[in-house]
Amino acid sequence: MVSGRFARAKARAAAPRSGLSCSLRMTNDPIPNLTAFDSAALDKAFAALKKQAQQDAAALGAPEAVEAFRLKWLGRKQGLLNDVSSRWLKAAPADAKKAVGERFKKLKELVERLLDEASGSGPSDAALAAEAIDITLPGTRRLTGAEHPITRTMNEIVSVFAALGYSVGVGPEVETDYYNFESMNFPPGHPARDTQDTLVVAGQERRPQRDRLLLRTHTSPVQMRTMELEPPPVRIVIPGKVHRNEADDATHSSMFHQVEGLCVDTNITFSDLKGTLDHAMKALFGSSVKTRLFPSFFPFTEPSADVQISCIFCGGKGCRKCKQSGWIELLGCGMVDPAVFAFAAEKQPAYDPKKISGFAFGMGVERIAMMKYGVSDIGQFFSGDMRFLWQFA
Ligand SMILES: [Zn+2]
Repeated sequence: MVSGRFARAKARAAAPRSGLSCSLRMTNDPIPNLTAFDSAALDKAFAALKKQAQQDAAALGAPEAVEAFRLKWLGRKQGLLNDVSSRWLKAAPADAKKAVGERFKKLKELVERLLDEASGSGPSDAALAAEAIDITLPGTRRLTGAEHPITRTMNEIVSVFAALGYSVGVGPEVETDYYNFESMNFPPGHPARDTQDTLVVAGQERRPQRDRLLLRTHTSPVQMRTMELEPPPVRIVIPGKVHRNEADDATHSSMFHQVEGLCVDTNITFSDLKGTLDHAMKALFGSSVKTRLFPSFFPFTEPSADVQISCIFCGGKGCRKCKQSGWIELLGCGMVDPAVFAFAAEKQPAYDPKKISGFAFGMGVERIAMMKYGVSDIGQFFSGDMRFLWQFA
């Protein structure tokens, strides 16, 4: 025991002591002890470490190497910076503490930055410079999307009826002769078909007429498609695109949009129709708008009527827009023809014309949009001219 203690004491006495020499003295440890604390000595000592850190960092690549770098420099126990702290900072005389501390802080920041760059957690200075933005330049203006005026008008009409409990029905634009005409009480060869100049799909002469395809001339086929799927009661509005073989001019387009409505239940009367449309026109054009009905003809309604509203431009006094009449014709309507219910009853027997009744109406969206926004040429809606469309954005 005694000899062992003696041996350790001898070894301690042989260990190097700091402060004996005026230059860096290499020991077995990676960090040599400092023997002088003047600026020149400190600069030299710290510059050596800085150079070594940069050399170490320059050789980094794989994540394991980065971790090894971190352990070598920043490790809690064996890290070089920890060593520097205990051997240089703590050992420094009181008047040199500040000088060592400042240099130590800079070295630590350098090592941390090198580590950040190597591990990719922080962008390099070069990358930051490449991404620099001149915030004094005007930005890139991004255009905001907006509803097309036709879509907007169509949605407004639909929302008026949605508030009354109507749901929305949709159907195909390429329709069969049966749904577009026959089931809507336009029999084959009937002159009523001449009122809707139709674009038909070519090369179908071999098919039975009711199966031949055409571009729907109105959204009415969706009435029949809905009734075939659902027994009464039915309340739907049908917004959609329709096509007719018309020559384009300021008020006509071969492609346009309609919103149709259908209401079927027991005891639906003409006064229900009148009240519904009067409410809808007031909701769309303002509470002071009046409505009146004129006898008309549509194959799928009986009786049928044209609806006029008091001129929204002059309030009914008479102006150029209403041709001095004070009234503007806006939509068609009527009580659903029993013949239409008979077609629906082929698939849904509940549409028995003796037990149920209903009304239907339809309006052109372009005509209403032109009135609302003061557009004089229907073609402007579809020309794609941004100068026109921007007015509605
Ligand atoms: Zn007027």
